[in-house]
Amino acid sequence: MIHGARVKALNDAKTVRGRYVLYWMQQSQRACCNHALEFAVRRGDELGLPVLVGFGITQRYPEGNERHYAFMLEGLRETEARLAERGMQLVTMLSPPVQAALALTGDAAEVVTDRGYLGFQRRWRRRVAQRAGCRVTRVESDAVVPVETASGKEEYAARTLRPRIQDHLDEFMVPLEQTSPRRDSLQMCSGSLNLARVAVLLDELRLNRGASPVSLFRGGAAEADRWLADFIRNDLGHYAERRSDPAAECVSHMSPYLHFGQISPLKVALAVDSATSGSNGNVEAYLEELIVRRELSLNYCLYNAQYDSLAGLPHWARTTLEEHAGDRRPHTYDLQTLERAETHDPWWNAAQREMMLRGKMHNYMRMYWGKKILEWMPDPDEAFRAALMLNNRYELDGRDPNSFAGVAWCFGKHDRAWSERPVFGKVRYMSAAGLERKFDMESYVRRVDGLDRDRQEQ
Ligand SMILES: Cc1cc2nc3c(=O)[nH]c(=O)nc-3n(C[C@H](O)[C@H](O)[C@H](O)COP(=O)(O)OP(=O)(O)OC[C@H]3O[C@@H](n4cnc5c(N)ncnc54)[C@H](O)[C@@H]3O)c2cc1C
Repeated sequence: MIHGARVKALNDAKTVRGRYVLYWMQQSQRACCNHALEFAVRRGDELGLPVLVGFGITQRYPEGNERHYAFMLEGLRETEARLAERGMQLVTMLSPPVQAALALTGDAAEVVTDRGYLGFQRRWRRRVAQRAGCRVTRVESDAVVPVETASGKEEYAARTLRPRIQDHLDEFMVPLEQTSPRRDSLQMCSGSLNLARVAVLLDELRLNRGASPVSLFRGGAAEADRWLADFIRNDLGHYAERRSDPAAECVSHMSPYLHFGQISPLKVALAVDSATSGSNGNVEAYLEELIVRRELSLNYCLYNAQYDSLAGLPHWARTTLEEHAGDRRPHTYDLQTLERAETHDPWWNAAQREMMLRGKMHNYMRMYWGKKILEWMPDPDEAFRAALMLNNRYELDGRDPNSFAGVAWCFGKHDRAWSERPVFGKVRYMSAAGLERKFDMESYVRRVDGLDRDRQEQ
């Protein structure tokens, strides 16, 4: 059963005569554990129609570059094959998502789509719903507890969202039943992009080449499953104690796969919850990150229209940063120096290089990295924009609600006021000495150096 709270009609139009039910896939780019897809399959069976899956590739996705496209296309290629095994054709069109969806609605009896929380993703869905001429239904599949069910307003912090999520967890943490459609759509459409050779397609697309593809993380549901199994087997048992240690890498690496919808957060949560390796608070610690913290970011982007700027911060944080904007900085760097990882701070430089080389910086270093950008750039506004830009350019999981909430956290979002100090005002400060006290930072730098060596040997 798909919980009614996941389902929302986006227009008042009716089901019309058509050849298929269209699942316009955008956020949840997967064939497994996808509530929107399963909803479409059920509607198709009720109407006696097959399900066609449509996906539009825009070459100008906001802040997207070759690194992101490579990961996405690897995932789509696999999704196409997995959908075909279930009797559904994936039609991939080289066209902006709204145009692709509308081009395919002409023959659709109705349209089902998934959910995205960023402003432009919401606008895309509104436009399709306005112009489709048939019923358009949105089905939430990228939050464990649908955001409005947990809370109808912007939450102040994890501590205020946590009890609201917990109230609904039993209701929503249930496996999704999967059935294949009674009628297949495999030969319905011609002209789908050939996804077989990702490298060739990447060369042909007119993309921003600002960051090149990475080799450590490959896109696709099978890779996501592999990392997840590996994490549960080897690291979950130490997660609570070691997740913050940058040298240990005791993390799941789920974020790029979650960002592209190649794995479902529900599937990850259920797998971790039932793992025997996860006693001693490890499961709780992991689910806190995956559900409470991640869904706090969704809450932020849904309810705060200014999630991508300093204006999204709470009043106290904006005020204190403004009051200290003119403070003398201990070091100042421009964007280029930061991007080239040429600061005086070896830990920060290692973090920046980690992100550039493999497309994913360790979580704890992300906090330190963002705090230092605030400390070293001439003013908080410039610092915010620089942190977001670098994050979104180089991180495989960048351009996500978590990206906006993560950067904003460094500037005081979802946090409380601390004792006042220069530059930061009452915003929480982090120091190199703190890192050195807690972790073996030389070992972290050696790990990053290893990434550099691997790249040069390739
Ligand atoms: C400055 C800054 C920028 C960030 N940018 C991004 C980003 O672009 N994309 C992104 O997905 N996350 C971002 N985060 C949040 C967090 O760092 C990553 O989600 C985490 O490092 C992902 O690695 P993992 O999947 O191996 O984590 P794990 O520790 O294995 O966690 C599992 C999952 O829990 C969620 N999670 C973990 N930590 C957080 C957190 N602090 N906030 C919200 N959700 C969390 C993620 O979905 C993650 O995949 C940022 C944090 C900061 C401080």
